[in-house]
This record gives sequence, structure tokens and C-alpha cells, in this order.
Amino acid sequence: MLEHCECGQRYDLDFRLVDYKKHVSIDNVPVLVCPRCEHEEVLHWLKRDLIALLQGLPLDGEPYGLDYTEFNELAYIIYTVFTCSPVDTKDALKAEIQESCKARINALLDLYRCAGDVGDQSWMAEIERRLAQLTEKVSVEGRSLRCSPA
Ligand SMILES: [Zn+2]
Repeated sequence: MLEHCECGQRYDLDFRLVDYKKHVSIDNVPVLVCPRCEHEEVLHWLKRDLIALLQGLPLDGEPYGLDYTEFNELAYIIYTVFTCSPVDTKDALKAEIQESCKARINALLDLYRCAGDVGDQSWMAEIERRLAQLTEKVSVEGRSLRCSPA
């Protein structure tokens, strides 16, 4: 997160309103913006989740809007840190987002254990879905691991 653009400049973090098929407006989508060449892209970690969300949206009836931070744990954390934190450097911002993610992952893991203790499968599935937004399954030397963004 907040790495460098192809032109060498470090990205800024910002948020965009994304219009989907002129029917749904998705607000507060975190994007990386290059202050030099103005290249802009959705955060790598969010792309898959955002596409999955878009594909599942109903497109009949009246156009409507939604707030992406209500659908994605990572977007929520990034938005909260970005808007509420007093830090003023990219590194401090990145560190604070990482800390918030770690705290949220731990809280979700605690909940997951509770859900497992009472044997609530649908609760466990819901928590797993949220954990998946904050971690990514990767394969390292044949072992399956989860790693976090930022
Ligand atoms: Zn650039």
C-alpha cells in the first residue's frame, strides 16, 4: 500500500465515487493517486472484492448509491484512519492502517473462536468472509498462509 507509481513518484491515498453501469454509485472507494503523472488505480487489495460486490448488485429499479466502507473491512479501516488520524506523513498513515488491521484481525479471530465454541456455522462463515477482506491466502513453499495488506 502507498507504494510507488511506475513513474517513480510515491502514491497518495484518496477516495473516489465509482459509477457502475450508470445505475449504482459506490462512494468512498480507496484509490492510489500519483501526484506527478496523475495515474490512478483502485487499491490492489480491494480489486477482487470490489468486482465481486459489483457483480452481485441488483441493477433493476431506481438508480441508487452505497458506501463501500459499509461493505469492506479494509476500506472501512483505511477510511477511518485517513479521516480521523492526526498523522501527516505517508509512512505514519501506512503504519496506523497496518496497526488498525492487525487489531481488527485479532478481534475477528476472537469472535471466530466464540462462534466456533457455540457451533454457529453461519456466524463463522460471516466472520470468515470479513477476515478474507483483511487477509489474502497465499502459498509459500507449498504451505497455505494468510497475509495482510499494507
Ligand atoms: Zn506516476
